[in-house]
Amino acid sequence: MREVKNRSFFEHSVINKMPENEHEQVVFCEDNKTGLMAIIAIHNTVLGPSLGGARMWHYKNGLEATRDALRLSKAMTYKASVAGLNLGGGKAVIIDNSIKNKTPELFRRFGKFIESLNGKYITAEDVGTSSNDMKYIKMETNHVTCLPESTGGGGDPSSKTAYGVYMGMKACAKLCFGNKDLDSKIIVVQGAGHVGTHLLEWLVKENAKVYISDIDEEKVKEAVKKYNVESVGVNEVYDMEMDIYSPCALGATVNNNTLNRLKCSVIAGGANNQLADENVDGKMIMEKGIIYAPDFVINAGGLINCYSEVIGYNREYVLNKVENIYFTVLDILKKSKEENTPADLIAKRIAEQRINEAIK
Ligand code: NAD
Repeated sequence: MREVKNRSFFEHSVINKMPENEHEQVVFCEDNKTGLMAIIAIHNTVLGPSLGGARMWHYKNGLEATRDALRLSKAMTYKASVAGLNLGGGKAVIIDNSIKNKTPELFRRFGKFIESLNGKYITAEDVGTSSNDMKYIKMETNHVTCLPESTGGGGDPSSKTAYGVYMGMKACAKLCFGNKDLDSKIIVVQGAGHVGTHLLEWLVKENAKVYISDIDEEKVKEAVKKYNVESVGVNEVYDMEMDIYSPCALGATVNNNTLNRLKCSVIAGGANNQLADENVDGKMIMEKGIIYAPDFVINAGGLINCYSEVIGYNREYVLNKVENIYFTVLDILKKSKEENTPADLIAKRIAEQRINEAIK
């Protein structure tokens, strides 16, 4: 066994990627009968059991899916820590097309894999999954949140996520424009999904000038009609003059290419892992004079909702904690300015301090 401990033995394998980000455990799940292929990545459980949604996506290959699971679960550790929750970071990806291939059996089998982890990972909904899918997982394990409200659960967490994004966006506006009001600000929301559309509601109420973009044209049409907003093409987003860019679709939309095109003063959105390369993009954002609300801070509303389900659902607790995202973002942005350090690094430092103190 001894020579196995030499990392070069694992070159190009997943287990060699785990120490890079300090993952505790990665579980590969496969079941021929239901067609389930999934990965559960547990990043860190120092503060509590790992909690993170199960994403169902048609990944191109296993490597892409593994990378996503590893990155997303690490961000969950930071998210829970900064939000002050007693939770660790985990995430699952189900490798499949969520529109065509969802079955109750697939989710029940996935639930059995979660049960085998004895509470070290608690699941939730994410891109491609819903409260209804969680119902089937619940038939096999109690380690599941986002259950329908009709069954005593917290339901779809995306309205809380969107409310937190709205609060964080106001904190960015306060620092950038001297006023937290979003009235008449030009805001581009990328992604007309659960989070994006709930966010539209808040922005429209405040008389912001809102544009929506999605790869799904039907969703764009629906949003334009329902919220009386304008649309912008998927590729035009990065070339538009705007005050605030709000990524609410998939990750990695803030990268070397888009940063050279983006004409905005603020980046504040709900998507996970917005920065394609954490080592360079945060710095580049700062050098361009753009104010950035770190994704894992601003989009914690949904996780707060799930956490409340774990400890006993309390709506008031959730709303207070989600509203507090305004002050957390403001504090991080002020520190970022004072220390001339990218906001995402400040936020990571805060998260790591809490974890290190817990270890002590
Ligand atoms: P969703 O699946 O409901 O919506 C995502 C939308 O993005 C879809 O309409 C999809 O067509 C669109 N999209 C994909 N690629 C696009 C592109 N290139 N340009 C424009 N649109 C594109 O998912 P959601 O629940 O709204 O989540 C959105 C993001 O927020 C995800 O990154 C998710 O991980 C993150 N997030 C969600 C929650 C939550 O409570 N749902 C919590 C925290 C973070």
